[in-house]
Amino acid sequence: MGDPATYHFDLDPALRPAHAPLEERWWPGIRDAALKASSARIYDPIKGVRAVVIHATAGGSSAGAASVILDGKASFHWLVPDEDEPQHGQFVWATCHEARAAWHVRNACSHPAIWDGRGRINHWSLGIEVVNRQVRTDAFSDWQIEATAQIVRYAWSKYPNLSHVVSHAMLDPARRSDPGRLFPWERFREAVMDGRGERVPELVAGVAELEETTPPASHCMTA
Ligand SMILES: [Zn+2]
Repeated sequence: MGDPATYHFDLDPALRPAHAPLEERWWPGIRDAALKASSARIYDPIKGVRAVVIHATAGGSSAGAASVILDGKASFHWLVPDEDEPQHGQFVWATCHEARAAWHVRNACSHPAIWDGRGRINHWSLGIEVVNRQVRTDAFSDWQIEATAQIVRYAWSKYPNLSHVVSHAMLDPARRSDPGRLFPWERFREAVMDGRGERVPELVAGVAELEETTPPASHCMTA
């Protein structure tokens, strides 16, 4: 496994997905707390988003992670459930408004490879927390990696200037090591690039079929 302090990759604008759906649900009752545990972005909330930061919890439950937001101590935009939770395999939790700067990286942190070393990263990033105990016995599940990759693809399709995907450890190596050595960064990168989880929504597929089989309107007009 790699060194979390080196985990990062850039997104090639030429490969940006046109559409990447995301199965997400708000964590019950967290919206008001998230507004208090976040800041107004100092950059444009769409064009100003440049990075996604990957975190892992040190605890083994989504409820434990959500509690830091409910307590007003820190925040992040999405939470990826652990394999022993009923939401695993179903959807990810939305835990903070994307338009807000969540509090997931210290303001003093920066890295020269990430938007030319600018600080105040929370203002131009989105944060994902993956539930994992970060011990040898707790592997990340395949679905957690796919789900995290799909959040990145969703964000990539939505935010035109999003170009960096980076670990918390790389931004704050003195204090943080998440998402940890067990996080399969290369497999995750491949999943972001492949978009394996994406399907054409049935409604859109149905319309395409209709267009193929329905005669042009002019036939009806002349009949
Ligand atoms: Zn972190």
